Amino acid sequence: MATVSDPSQTRFFNFSAGPATLPLPVLQRAQQELLNLPGAGASVLEISHRSRDFVEILESTTRNLTELLSLPDNYKVIYLQGGSRLQFSMVPMNFLRGSEKPADYVTTGSWGKKALVEAKKEGPVNLAWDGKSEKYNRVPTDAELQLTPGAPYTYITSNETIEGVQFATEPATGDSPLVCDASSDFLCRPLPIEKYGLIYACAQKNAGPAGVTLVIIREDLLERGADTLPGYLNYRQHFENDSMFNTPPTFAIYLVDLIAQWLLKDMGGLEKVYELNQKKAACLYEEIDRSDGFYQGHAIDSSRSLMNVTFRLPSDELQSQFISEAAKRNLVSLKGHRSVGGIRASIYNAMPMEGVIALQEFMQDFHEQHSS
Ligand SMILES: *Cc1c(COP(=O)(O)O)cnc(C)c1O
Repeated sequence: MATVSDPSQTRFFNFSAGPATLPLPVLQRAQQELLNLPGAGASVLEISHRSRDFVEILESTTRNLTELLSLPDNYKVIYLQGGSRLQFSMVPMNFLRGSEKPADYVTTGSWGKKALVEAKKEGPVNLAWDGKSEKYNRVPTDAELQLTPGAPYTYITSNETIEGVQFATEPATGDSPLVCDASSDFLCRPLPIEKYGLIYACAQKNAGPAGVTLVIIREDLLERGADTLPGYLNYRQHFENDSMFNTPPTFAIYLVDLIAQWLLKDMGGLEKVYELNQKKAACLYEEIDRSDGFYQGHAIDSSRSLMNVTFRLPSDELQSQFISEAAKRNLVSLKGHRSVGGIRASIYNAMPMEGVIALQEFMQDFHEQHSS
């Protein structure tokens, strides 16, 4: 295998929706430690998940996430595999199976729709709101939600990655526990965690590499999973075994820890990260709004995502040209999801302001070249 002399010199600005760009200092530290984790005499890839060295990494990850999110004592972090897709099933298996009352599902885009399909296999479901007739271009107001009193839970997707539609704040869902798929905006801002019963995120969008899914669960909900569930699929098993029910994805957890440290120490915590994310997103949305309709944003203003900026150009030809000319400036992975088309710029925590500005300048130039 050939060696690369200085990969940092050839890295592109990568707008991929996931797996997505990671912070360069995190990659550099992982590279530095890859052959020999300090004190372990071996790579983190080579040590037992029950070794003291790995247990320390796991504890550090939880400690850092707890600090970042100010998690109260009655919330637990667990580390799972199977991605968010498995959570589409695990949530209703644990909380809906055997229930006579329906769970409330709020559908604001493609991922929520898929979660609903899995929930229906486990029990009754009420579609509390669905954005389909408006092509999933917004989140609902609280007044529009048709909630079930005493529902086992209410389910939302905080950020719809494909459509680029995000809840700015949590909807008011009454007494039933709020369950949230935060796969693509977890750690993009501080969270009022006490509003949630369970929040989960596959790591490969905003929180790390593929391979680990983070689940934060309020302790009282752990009681709900039936003993007859397959072991791996019961949240309680993972909690009781400190995420060591089976071998956890050790390397992915190690990277999540490095990212949590980067967010705390280099970035200065989630308030600061949130401010920067707002500035980054504003750059691109302002460019869309300035373009006299040349760039057409998908989401309505109040539902615009800080993480995935989605828009169209006047024709498919211009869209293809936009993507190929951007690539010449090392701005890559801007093609929208195959199900909706258009352009999608994913600007997660790890995308630096420089990358966003480079894209904004390219959008300006491209617009100038093709107007009139
Ligand atoms: C990517 C994504 C998923 C699917 O995640 P997998 O880890 O591939 O299962 C689910 N929900 C949202 C919001 C996503 O962005």
